[in-house]
Amino acid sequence: MQEISVIILKNLVILPNQEIKVELKSEISQKIIKDACKTDNSLVLVVAPIGETTDLPKIGVVAAIKSKIELPNKSLRVNLKGLQRVVVNKYFNKGNEEALSAIISECRLPKFNELEVIAIRRKLLETLKNYIDSSPEISNSILVGAQTATSLEVLTDMITSFLPFDTPKKLEYMQNINAMNRANSLLKDINSELEIIKLEEKINERVSINIEDNQKEFLLREKLKEIRNELGDKSVREEDCEKFRATLEKLDLPEKTKEKLANEITKLEGISDASPEGSVVRNYLDLVLNLPWSESSEENTDLKELKKSLDKTHYGLDEIKERVLEYVGIKKINAKAANPIICLVGPPGVGKTSIATSIAKSLNREFIKISVGGLNDSTELTGSRRTYLGASPGKIIQSIKKCGVNNPVILIDEVDKMVKDYKGDPAATLLEILDPVQNKAFVDNYVEEPFDLSNVFFILTANIESDIPITLLDRLEIINLNSYTGYEKVNIAKKYLLPNIYREYGIKKIDLTDKQIETIITNYTYESGVRDLDRVLRKVIRKVILDDIKEIDIKEILGEEKYETAKLEQNPYPGVSNALAYTPMGGIVTKVETVKLPGSGKITITGMPGKSLEESVSVALDFLKTNYSINLNNQDIHIHFLDATTPKDGPSAGAAIAIAIMSLYLDKPIPASVAFTGEISLKGNILKVGGVKEKIIGAINTGVTTIYIPKDNETDIQSIPKKMLKNINVIGVKDYSEIYKEVFR
Ligand code: ADP
Repeated sequence: MQEISVIILKNLVILPNQEIKVELKSEISQKIIKDACKTDNSLVLVVAPIGETTDLPKIGVVAAIKSKIELPNKSLRVNLKGLQRVVVNKYFNKGNEEALSAIISECRLPKFNELEVIAIRRKLLETLKNYIDSSPEISNSILVGAQTATSLEVLTDMITSFLPFDTPKKLEYMQNINAMNRANSLLKDINSELEIIKLEEKINERVSINIEDNQKEFLLREKLKEIRNELGDKSVREEDCEKFRATLEKLDLPEKTKEKLANEITKLEGISDASPEGSVVRNYLDLVLNLPWSESSEENTDLKELKKSLDKTHYGLDEIKERVLEYVGIKKINAKAANPIICLVGPPGVGKTSIATSIAKSLNREFIKISVGGLNDSTELTGSRRTYLGASPGKIIQSIKKCGVNNPVILIDEVDKMVKDYKGDPAATLLEILDPVQNKAFVDNYVEEPFDLSNVFFILTANIESDIPITLLDRLEIINLNSYTGYEKVNIAKKYLLPNIYREYGIKKIDLTDKQIETIITNYTYESGVRDLDRVLRKVIRKVILDDIKEIDIKEILGEEKYETAKLEQNPYPGVSNALAYTPMGGIVTKVETVKLPGSGKITITGMPGKSLEESVSVALDFLKTNYSINLNNQDIHIHFLDATTPKDGPSAGAAIAIAIMSLYLDKPIPASVAFTGEISLKGNILKVGGVKEKIIGAINTGVTTIYIPKDNETDIQSIPKKMLKNINVIGVKDYSEIYKEVFR
């Protein structure tokens, strides 16, 4: 039993044989030390409170004060050397002093089996050696010191003193008087430390590049992940990589492509989750591995069924329907025959898009539409390189991915409205995509590997053939879809549009007469196609159903007529002729008016003519002056193109201008039911022009019964249904004299 002063150290642990330095700030502690130094052996008892409490433990360590220095900051630096564990019998305050004292007695240390001690000592030293070998910051000399330790008590305390344990753990060791127990705990703890070191090494290996201060969190996460790995939990990335590998395994790809994709997967494995590159590679693999490299829809090749299916959705359009049947027929003979590249040309609303959808459906292929109107950047079609931020595949590959098969029908809409500029020539790019020779190995910039597009059925659309880039035009099979005549529109309405509307609305047929449908067409719509017609019919039907109308009166339902029935002049007068023009709405009849007035040979042209129209006027006039002795002395001529508000151009009105001036000079009117199209040369030749088919249909719809066209345009008539030509007399002429003779007979 012995009385001794007590020093309470909160965050420091002292073990027997260990020397520590402490800086004491509190006056009481300093006084205790100073008082202790005055005694013979300068001893103090060092204890630590238990856990978070102020309770003091039953075990403490007696320490000798080796030295003490007063520091300028008023604290006292003390060198302590731990001597031995003791049992504390009692803590008490001596007299009225705040300082704590204790009554201590020696620990009764347990006795151990000698062999057991040797065995555990060996084991401890071996484990310690492993630990020192693998932890660079601990010096080898410690091992030498440990080997010379005389007892298990000394050895265990020595090891505990330099291991990087936290204070609570060290305290546990300090308060454990059983050296054998301490030795066993040490074996366990050193082994876990060893594991941690190994993990850290693994992590360091992978993240050794560029670890910055702010990556602490990242480092911790890595540690966590590694620990999860050790526990058998797989990271999301690893699972993804496994899935990617399994997918790649199943794909039927060229060896080179497979190798490259396998490399990408390996690359992803090595990228940490926090790195943005990871998601770039992941997205890439996700797209490329899920492309339909060999998935395709089974094509329907039953010709009868096909025809039935196409007829079910669309009236007429025989040329395109036949072309599709022909294609399937050829494919049956030669499965390798290249797919045609069809381009449907025609004004809006004539069924280009919807027939393409119907073709896809009938063939049992997927359908997708890509619009290229206004497109000026080729990379929209072929993708951007992965090195660019936000890179993505082009529209073609995106479509293929979306369909999930490699043989869809792809509709490329508005090829006549692509723009060639500094960003490239989309037409040239499109050609590479369409060309059966090149598209077998189409390389999207993003995908980087060749994809076979030769199974895709491409259908293009355009409004105006002459606006299709010439390089592209050469390779296309043009199929014209014309404006519909009133007769055709009535049929489309009765057989297709109306039944569709009834089905959609879930109602029974409504009594609409042909006459009423005609009224809707002529007085409430103005279009080449039937899009407006469909819209107006829907409106009528909604009204009839909702207002429960029994007697249908179109005017009552739709209000005042929006368009007048195109009427021809009943009482024509000299100097006026009908010219034909081609507009995006289809062919129309326009008038050329001429008058002469006293003057000096001046020519006035009005009605917003363009340059080539003005030239047509001079050519026609000079031809008439030289060949028909028209004399302009003392006279001015005014030529006006109706309607006055629409700009006009294009060399196709020469014949109509010449005949109007002739009519003026002969003072003989031209019948209003006659119309003209064709350019005139200085020699009076009538030259070939464009859009003749549309013009003829426009003329028929307006009530024209005779039309003069250039002889060279006669082939255009073949594609107009015979039925429509019943009411019109189309005369092909080579020379102005033929028109002159016929008209002024
Ligand atoms: P486009 O692509 O030529 O502008 P759409 O294919 O969009 O025209 O056709 C517009 C609408 O007209 C669609 O509802 C379509 O079903 C209908 N339509 C066009 N032509 C026909 C036709 N020949 N038979 C039946 N419906 C037609």
